Amino acid sequence: MAAPGLKYRRVLLKIGGESLAGERAFGIAPLAVQALAARIVEALELGVELAVVVGGGNFWRGGEHRNINRATADYIGMLGTVMNALALQEAIERLHVPTRVQTAIEMREVAEPYIRRKAVAHLEAGRLVIFAAGSGNPYFTTDTAGALRAMEIGAEALLKATKVDGAYTDDPMTNPNATRIERTTYLEALNNGLKILDATAFSLCMDNNLPIIVFRLEDEGSLVRVLAGDQVGTLVAA
Ligand code: UDP
Repeated sequence: MAAPGLKYRRVLLKIGGESLAGERAFGIAPLAVQALAARIVEALELGVELAVVVGGGNFWRGGEHRNINRATADYIGMLGTVMNALALQEAIERLHVPTRVQTAIEMREVAEPYIRRKAVAHLEAGRLVIFAAGSGNPYFTTDTAGALRAMEIGAEALLKATKVDGAYTDDPMTNPNATRIERTTYLEALNNGLKILDATAFSLCMDNNLPIIVFRLEDEGSLVRVLAGDQVGTLVAA
């Protein structure tokens, strides 16, 4: 049972691969992973059911490798997400939260295969579930896998953790007048060219009325505040 005062009972958290690299550009920084794990465990202590989709951009993005067959490059990318998922699982289990990794590409020696009903059963039993290997299909992103899994498990929101603390009217790095958008509709976000998710992921959310919240997970207490329904980051909803 979710604690009273929580806005969401079950959510899907999408974490980009960069977040696991910390200050590095590449690979896994154990301290960064520990910090992410701490944020996640704080949220779980509220009684929320949380599933995570983890990206792989800290290792490889298929679309950036033009001299390799695109499907092959994407499979390499999906395997990268599995490394991240295992690192995150370790860090979370060190904080005594039972965690299961499910992969969209079968590799039973390291993780469970993705089985929707089993994932839901894990959540109901208070386990954290990390979905790895994206959607299992090339030409997709882990944002799309996040939107897809969110819908499949009946999540009430897709929480997208990014390096910036929300969506801005312009690039805050180059324009000092850029302001953070607190709330917007799907159509406004599209019309204003806001880059919240890639087009496939975004339309999946829009078509199914799944609220998206973009925020910075590294900010202490941010995930807890998102779950409480406080104004954090940018909310995209109907
Ligand atoms: N990928 C894929 N299908 C999926 C998810 C991911 O082919 O369903 C591949 C794709 O090459 C992608 C890479 O895995 O570039 C890493 O995922 P992503 O770029 O979404 O990671 P993030 O930017 O979130 O770290």
